[in-house]
Amino acid sequence: MRRALAAGRDVLAAGGSALDAVTRAVAALEDDPLFNAGRGSVFTAAGTQEMDASVMDGRDHRAGAVAGIFGPRNPVLAARAVMEHSQHVLLIGEGALAFCREQRLAFAEPCYFSTEARRQELREALEKRGREAAGAGTVGAVASDSEGNLAAATSTGGTTGKTPGRVGDSPIIGAGTYADNATCAVSATGHGEFFMRYCAAFEIAARLRHAGQSLQQAAHEVVEELAAFGGRGGVVAVDRTGALALPFNTAGMYRGYVRADAAIHTAIWDEPYLSG
Ligand code: ASP
Repeated sequence: MRRALAAGRDVLAAGGSALDAVTRAVAALEDDPLFNAGRGSVFTAAGTQEMDASVMDGRDHRAGAVAGIFGPRNPVLAARAVMEHSQHVLLIGEGALAFCREQRLAFAEPCYFSTEARRQELREALEKRGREAAGAGTVGAVASDSEGNLAAATSTGGTTGKTPGRVGDSPIIGAGTYADNATCAVSATGHGEFFMRYCAAFEIAARLRHAGQSLQQAAHEVVEELAAFGGRGGVVAVDRTGALALPFNTAGMYRGYVRADAAIHTAIWDEPYLSG
């Protein structure tokens, strides 16, 4: 997580855009097998891996996403390519892969993505009555740059033991990802079906825009309301003033932030942030 935060920080410190910062941070997390995105993604009930990712630019509401893909090394780069080099917002499956090849994105061998820890997780999930289980470790980032532009990106392997073809909230704009310079940028993790049904990321932005709520208030309330409906998870969010909110309704959420002073702050549970 520190590596990912440093990657985003370095982009911003060099005068780069929020969009580049979230893309770089999420790509760094995808490269790390500890997280459920890119390398280290969870397995479907059929023992396959299907990845979803999205990115959104708060300047102009441009967005790109991919769903159900397997092969591109960094799904977030595929999402970014959809945003920048296609007429579309969301590409899925084979068509998305063909597009990634056209764009000359890097692909990796199947064994690159597979980890024994995730295989074990699937075995355990299937033993537990074959029910779908949460696949912790979806990754996301939000950023505000020196020009006040906001961006968000999210990437995931989804949920362990999911039905092949299932798509969660991560590639759905307004559910798992949203960015709007006038309000805030949000990236979500958790039980995707709930975040989709409640349009969670957009709901937070809507409360800033229409109800005059602070980011802190809106993000906390939405995450608490989801909990009341049985939706477990959390978000990372930043608003147009640079205020942050990282609420979650689970026991913990691996999270961190870095500001212009460059110090990296990380936390997992409810403990004080570790700084350095
Ligand atoms: N939100 C992701 C999904 O439902 C999973 C997660 O965040 O753990 O696909």
